[in-house]
Amino acid sequence: MSARIRLALVGMGKIAHDQHLPAIAGNDDIELVATVSRHGEPVGGLPFFPNVEALAASGVAVDAVALCTPPQVRRAIAQFAIEQGWHVFLEKPPGATLAEVTALRDAATTRGVSLFASWHSRYADGVEPARSWLSGREVKRATITWREDVRVWHPGQDWIWEPGGFGVFDPGINALSIATRILPRPFFVETAELDVPSNRAAPIAARVAFRDTAGSAIAMDLDFRQEGPQHWDIEVETDAGTLLLAKGGSVLTIDGKEAVAHDAELHGEYPGLYRRFAEIVRAGESDVDVAPLRLVADAFLRGRHIAVEPFVE
Ligand code: NAP
Repeated sequence: MSARIRLALVGMGKIAHDQHLPAIAGNDDIELVATVSRHGEPVGGLPFFPNVEALAASGVAVDAVALCTPPQVRRAIAQFAIEQGWHVFLEKPPGATLAEVTALRDAATTRGVSLFASWHSRYADGVEPARSWLSGREVKRATITWREDVRVWHPGQDWIWEPGGFGVFDPGINALSIATRILPRPFFVETAELDVPSNRAAPIAARVAFRDTAGSAIAMDLDFRQEGPQHWDIEVETDAGTLLLAKGGSVLTIDGKEAVAHDAELHGEYPGLYRRFAEIVRAGESDVDVAPLRLVADAFLRGRHIAVEPFVE
């Protein structure tokens, strides 16, 4: 491999433009060498291809790809990339099913490349301090509130409403990526209600009741119909006070006192992801934690599906 990791970015939609391009530009270990998308234009005069097969045939030297397509099509692209000997960075969720992610992890191991199942919310500023504060404390209960306006945050993203698009669990899995990182004990789904618009295949809202292995309740409230103030909050009541991780993990308060505050949208998350990706590629390792995806799968397995009014964007 060259001194810098030569990376092609695949699926040039909202997150690729908003977060990946600036994070790559700010990382000295990574060099963007091409972009791949069915539509759109080249970026910064770099080679541009309609699919990864055309990239592989082009002769452009590539060490790694970052896949920013919707989850439903990610596995096939990742499998092809692994077969080329490219390291693979997967946007969240790492796949549309658990089994496909496991198969990718095994394929990456066999081919000797790194696979990164990225969870950007885990790189929010308050998450690691919250994890440290909670370790060794007794969690009595926790509440996850993730309510955002789908029309504002996911305009025109029809894939989110299709099978494998996860609906409101697309942002909800970010909350679970944080909760599985900061809560000291494993937890599992007890009951779930999934509100599915009658004209769509994925939930617009959900209420999930989890319990941890010591019996403490964790309640999750997800809603895509939130107007006005948006909420991305996790509150944890412990024997030693109450922790509030707000604004998607960027603002941490303990008993009402601010411990960490970085109130900027996705501040530092993607630079953190690319530092981690470069680290695992250099170390010859993979980083694939499916815990958040497993909880979403369990909510779909265990949940009652309730038909609600149609959603029209
Ligand atoms: P998006 O704006 O819809 O972009 C996805 C891109 O993938 C599209 O622009 C499209 O580009 C390509 N694509 C769509 N269908 C495809 C197909 N069948 N085959 C190949 N390529 C296809 O979605 P996004 O918001 O960027 O989200 C992409 C992923 O990032 C999702 O997994 C999401 O959960 C995650 N993410 C999103 C955000 C966010 O705030 N939006 C934040 C963090 C993570 P072409 O039509 O040009 O191929």
